[in-house]
Amino acid sequence: MDAHNFIYGQWVPAVDGQTAKSINPGNLNDTVGTYQDSTEADVEQAVQAAQEAAKPWRKLSGAERGAFLYKTADIMEERLDEIAKTAAREMGKTLAETKGETLRGIAILRYYAGEGLRKNGDVIPASDAKALMYTTRVPLGVVAVITPWNFPIAIPLWKTAPAIIFGNTVVLKPASETAVTCAKVVACFEAAGLPPGVLNFITGSGAKVGQSLVEHHRVNAITFTGSNTTGKKIGQTALARGAKYQLEMGGKNPVIVAADADIEQAVDATLSGAFKSTGQKCTATSRAFVDRAVYSTFKKLLLEKTKEIVVGDSLDAKTWMGPLASQNQLANCLAYIEKGLSEKATLLTGGHAIDQEKGSFIEPTIFECRDHHSSIAQEEIFGPVLALFEVDGIEEALRLANDVPYGLSASIFTKNIANMLAFIEDMDAGLIRVNAESAGVELQAPFGGMKQSSSHSREQGEAAKEFFTATKTIFVKA
Ligand code: NDP
Repeated sequence: MDAHNFIYGQWVPAVDGQTAKSINPGNLNDTVGTYQDSTEADVEQAVQAAQEAAKPWRKLSGAERGAFLYKTADIMEERLDEIAKTAAREMGKTLAETKGETLRGIAILRYYAGEGLRKNGDVIPASDAKALMYTTRVPLGVVAVITPWNFPIAIPLWKTAPAIIFGNTVVLKPASETAVTCAKVVACFEAAGLPPGVLNFITGSGAKVGQSLVEHHRVNAITFTGSNTTGKKIGQTALARGAKYQLEMGGKNPVIVAADADIEQAVDATLSGAFKSTGQKCTATSRAFVDRAVYSTFKKLLLEKTKEIVVGDSLDAKTWMGPLASQNQLANCLAYIEKGLSEKATLLTGGHAIDQEKGSFIEPTIFECRDHHSSIAQEEIFGPVLALFEVDGIEEALRLANDVPYGLSASIFTKNIANMLAFIEDMDAGLIRVNAESAGVELQAPFGGMKQSSSHSREQGEAAKEFFTATKTIFVKA
């Protein structure tokens, strides 16, 4: 597919006619499609389109706006297989995972369609008995949505759907690695008859297109998911010009396995948390702290099950773990494995690229670590690399689990209520998971991290309203 930009309801090439290729990371000979390598001139057109559409769009009722989202969901359901297949080819996640993600996207659309009918403010007693005081939520205007490649369907939707249901218009800039998949998602909005300019889609390099969107004086708010480096830059630019912003960034998520844990359950969740999506989830499990009493049992079972993992093509039904999303991701991951070895961690399994000429495949990798300040224990790797630690009880586990710059997601396996309560109370993370893997997000609940994992805002569920609207306090006297 040749993905064009989508501006004011039309699919158009970039102004200067440049395109770039999107390559299947699991088969470097397979070109998934092309996308526009846009420039500032395209950004200008997209922002102008969003601005033109803003007033008529905000004047519609929530129910009218919601109807477009319900229709988009129905169309996406019809196109599920095609969208999921494109995503699996474009970023390497298995087809089962991309189907699950597409279904999640459909559910997100329906959830936010309903939001158009939910309450939009509060009545607050005024000090004057003859006055009426209340709050209402109003849209922000033009919102820039900048998204990563690891959830190429769900993340654009969990930002775009609330933005537009609350009356904003959007310029969506997807990750270059997954531009073609995202174009197919945008085409569902087009087929649903969304008015021109409400959702605009523009592709091209983050440094060029992303940055000029963030700097654009008519973009009122920016919502971003991706790396800490880019996120911080966006936050600084937005702050300097007074735009609202929301950043969801990295994680270094721990699992704690207590002496009384159900070991099989803990192993399965650690495996899935660390290696599903080839470890490329911001909520992926990347550190495991296991009580000395069960350490050897846990380690033995974890290694047995890891060795059974089938790595391969994302479209092959036998594959459990696909390739990394790009050659860059592979190089980054291998560099961390080298660091792990040089920092004297013990490589228990994995550590090598597979079939490198074909694509960015890598073995699921587990290090046994003692130094909690080493790179592989502190930094986000974003690949299937797990650091395993033996600890003396829950207190030590919690102290080490908290000793990183991130605080996105964390899980514990235990049957002991005191352990659970200590973990819930003392773990610094936005998502606390008890007897469940660290990577698990529910669309109807707030999502976001503490410390350097986010800009301290929350996405999804009702929390989205906080970002995508501004509160007006109204005082009316007869
Ligand atoms: P980036 O943060 O660079 O990219 C995320 C999005 O931001 C993409 O759409 C990108 O566009 C865009 N972008 C890049 N630079 C700018 C800029 N200066 N201004 C505005 N937008 C910009 O992540 P990468 O894709 O480069 O991945 C690098 C690392 O980031 C990963 O290894 C991982 O550690 C982390 N990451 C974390 C994610 C998470 O969910 N927390 C998701 C993805 C990555 P373009 O694609 O065109 O560069």
